[in-house]
Amino acid sequence: MDKRTFIKAGGLLTVATLVAPLTACSTSKAVASAQKGEFTLPVLPYAVDALEPNMDKMTMEIHHGKHHATYVQRLNEAIKGNAFAEMTLEEMMGKITDKEGAIRNNGGGHYNHSLFWSILSPKGGAPTGKLAEALGSTFGSVDKFKTTFNDSAKTVFGSGWTWLCVGKDKKLFISTTPNQDNPLMTNIVKQLGTPILGLDVWEHAYYLKYQNKRADYITAFWNVVNWEEVSKRLVSAMS
Ligand code: MN
Repeated sequence: MDKRTFIKAGGLLTVATLVAPLTACSTSKAVASAQKGEFTLPVLPYAVDALEPNMDKMTMEIHHGKHHATYVQRLNEAIKGNAFAEMTLEEMMGKITDKEGAIRNNGGGHYNHSLFWSILSPKGGAPTGKLAEALGSTFGSVDKFKTTFNDSAKTVFGSGWTWLCVGKDKKLFISTTPNQDNPLMTNIVKQLGTPILGLDVWEHAYYLKYQNKRADYITAFWNVVNWEEVSKRLVSAMS
């Protein structure tokens, strides 16, 4: 993607998108996880107002175009000239320790938000096929899964994430992580797994629209989950 294409693609969003470094575009791909060395802000796979009214346009503009863009920018600064610059994001998650604060926070921020945008869609719907079966057999039913996930998301203290993951035993589990940690961080997080669905419960994800009513934001989230993407991630994690 050359600079002009990047700017055009970013035109969907606010000008704040351009906070992301433009210099790496010649070799970068839209899929964040495939990148190495210098990372770029992935373009949203839908219009910035497409998730209205569940996730409002202004929140999406700031969340993606400013918060996520800043994680990418700071990650690039933090890995410059060291061994982390030779890794994909996933490889990085497996290597970070609590000594690499900037890479932990900004690398986690980049990974988590890239996953988050991908598992959202204006289409909505319900889980089907193997995903629906797995949710049913693990949690009792899809509704019971949602209730457990909601309870988990409501009780994250301060800033963090709630995840649906596939463990090493190939079983589903729900977990939470503080700040921008995630279940791929081998040296940091106790309950390790491959996240296939994640919910950002930082206040920046919902405060403009929902203020202190985190529970309402969590309820609205289910209207815009991209279940096809979650299914793909399940199949990939199981293989
Ligand atoms: Mn966020």
